[in-house]
Amino acid sequence: MQTEKMILADLVSENLKNLIEKYGEKSFRAGQIFRNIHNGKAISEMTDISSGLKEKLLLDYHDTAIEIIKTLTSKDGTQKYLFKLHDGNVIEGVLMNYKYGNTLCVSTQVGCRMGCAFCASTLGGLIRNLSSGEILSEITTVNRLIGGNITKRQITNVVLMGSGEPLDNYDNVIGFLKLLSDKNGINISPRNVSLSTCGLVPKMYDLANVGLPVNLTLSLHSPFDEERRKIMPVANAYTISEIIKALDNYFDKTGRRYYLEYSLIAGVNDTDRCALELSKLFKGKPCHINLIRLNSVKEKNLLGTTDKKANEFMKKLTSYGLSVTLRRRMGDDIDGACGQLRRRYIEGDNAD
Ligand code: SAH
Repeated sequence: MQTEKMILADLVSENLKNLIEKYGEKSFRAGQIFRNIHNGKAISEMTDISSGLKEKLLLDYHDTAIEIIKTLTSKDGTQKYLFKLHDGNVIEGVLMNYKYGNTLCVSTQVGCRMGCAFCASTLGGLIRNLSSGEILSEITTVNRLIGGNITKRQITNVVLMGSGEPLDNYDNVIGFLKLLSDKNGINISPRNVSLSTCGLVPKMYDLANVGLPVNLTLSLHSPFDEERRKIMPVANAYTISEIIKALDNYFDKTGRRYYLEYSLIAGVNDTDRCALELSKLFKGKPCHINLIRLNSVKEKNLLGTTDKKANEFMKKLTSYGLSVTLRRRMGDDIDGACGQLRRRYIEGDNAD
């Protein structure tokens, strides 16, 4: 009976060693294969292992976890990739160039079940979780595409802000962070990773205890529970006060300040009343607020705050003593926001 093929990139070093032993091969082959995977290579492309071993691997494993099927480049240099998974599902990632290096934004799920009113990723619900190796492969594949490998990394930072809710796929995301920071692999430290959550409080506590000190980012989008509930269904499960306790605990346990993501929606969360409430909640806290103007999503009836109003909102927060940045909207012209490109693809607008 033909069993379902597996994903080689899911294997941590120890499991890969066991596999190689099972195949009756010398154990140093495991290290070679691990490095090949983290260099973004498919099994068929691994030139330093025998064709016999490749054949054995290909009987049990997919040749590659993902492949890039489309690349879009924005006027500002941002690149967006559409990846195809072995089961035909598609996900997306975005590469942003900053002064200090390249940041890749990756997806953690196919779709999302959080239902935020402004987000394209959630429009078709959750299809499935990504495995740890699939999330890793988004990074290793793009790192290779732009000329990097494990000794000369081109990707310096990773943000889990693509499609999906990372803490709704907790075990695989933790597995991914362990693979990502393996010294023998691509070796990107959790300190260079930002994990963004809509606020799954129990998992925020778990994350504080695993010893993987990522930059924790909370998607707040409103300082009022009743208003937050209107745009983020998850707010029915956890209040802002419960979320703040979990964030403070994260700081206490890891020593890492946390971040708030605040997408400015015209007339919804950009009022003086919101600014004042934000200052009441967060003044003196070890946090930084990232403002971004909402990327309007075709299917949703919400508009981004104007540039002028966004600047005023930022100044107001700064005058209250909060640490704030108004981020540039990158890749606006290439469906930069969460899940937009995948959405277009699924709708059939996938011409090159
Ligand atoms: N599920 C996670 C991470 C994915 S979304 C989370 O909720 O944090 C990454 C960020 O983009 C989140 O802050 C999300 O609220 C925001 N976002 C989603 N759609 C957006 C849009 N159309 N414009 C601006 N920000 C958006």
